[in-house]
Amino acid sequence: MIPEPAPEPASEPGPVSARLSRATASLRGLAVGDALGSQFFVPANYAALQSGDLPPGPWAWTDDTEMACSVLAVLVAHGRIDQDALARSFAEHHDFDRGYGPAVNRMLRLIRQEGADWRELAAGLFNGQGSWGNGAAMRIAPLGAWYAGDPEQATHQAEISAYTTHQHREAVVGAMAVAAAAALAADPAGPDDPDALLGAVLELVPRSAVHAGIRRARDMLDYADVATVAAVLGCGRRTSAHDTVPFALWAAARHLGDYERAFWTTARVGGDVDTNCAIVGGIIAARTGGEPPATWTRWTEPLPEWAGSA
Ligand SMILES: [Mg+2]
Repeated sequence: MIPEPAPEPASEPGPVSARLSRATASLRGLAVGDALGSQFFVPANYAALQSGDLPPGPWAWTDDTEMACSVLAVLVAHGRIDQDALARSFAEHHDFDRGYGPAVNRMLRLIRQEGADWRELAAGLFNGQGSWGNGAAMRIAPLGAWYAGDPEQATHQAEISAYTTHQHREAVVGAMAVAAAAALAADPAGPDDPDALLGAVLELVPRSAVHAGIRRARDMLDYADVATVAAVLGCGRRTSAHDTVPFALWAAARHLGDYERAFWTTARVGGDVDTNCAIVGGIIAARTGGEPPATWTRWTEPLPEWAGSA
């Protein structure tokens, strides 16, 4: 069942300009993670990944950033998630060459070229189970930043946003968890201890494989061996939400305030590198002091004007 669009948020955690600048900071962090992360699918750059050298710019971002721009544009225009506006924006700005998964590629093309209904298409994916891919989670950190200090509303709006493309429970919960983490990280009064952050996220998301994975991630916060953590939690090799979100939250929680280390730690385990780094970058950059190095931002393809970023 598709939840109805939410009523206007009961609480107002800050003026629009403050929300917009936090969400923009998160979107930039997401875009840098996505764009730089995707460079490491190029075999010539493998050595640079291990040595921590930067591949030559400019770095183009992929579907993660393109969809996140739609999330921000809808928040700017509507003050909350409007599902029809979001699906329309996804379809209007869909660029086939940005690395979308085949199911979403087809769906967005049908919406734009044939006026198909997102409700039917998203519900019909994968024999009616809906997609459990990590696509709803990869684009949502800026929404969490928009709702800094109101993680309940962030979680609720993330749930609504997920249904436009990803209706399987795990994909929806994955988006909720990332939004919750970003809302908590963006709140100056929020938890700054990794264990407290993941604990707060767990209280906000329903029982699911994603929830179980985040519980396991919390138990592994003191592990120094990242490869083991990724082997246990998964790192997006199957591009499912439950194979992606727990490790991304582990990496983000462990590196709050240190974008650079968060990026390299996340990128080096492999898997769905651009999406993992987009999620981690979006959460880390939501917090004051968590912005990417200036050079990295400069070498990343600029955000499109239609995103409405600050
Ligand atoms: Mg991508």
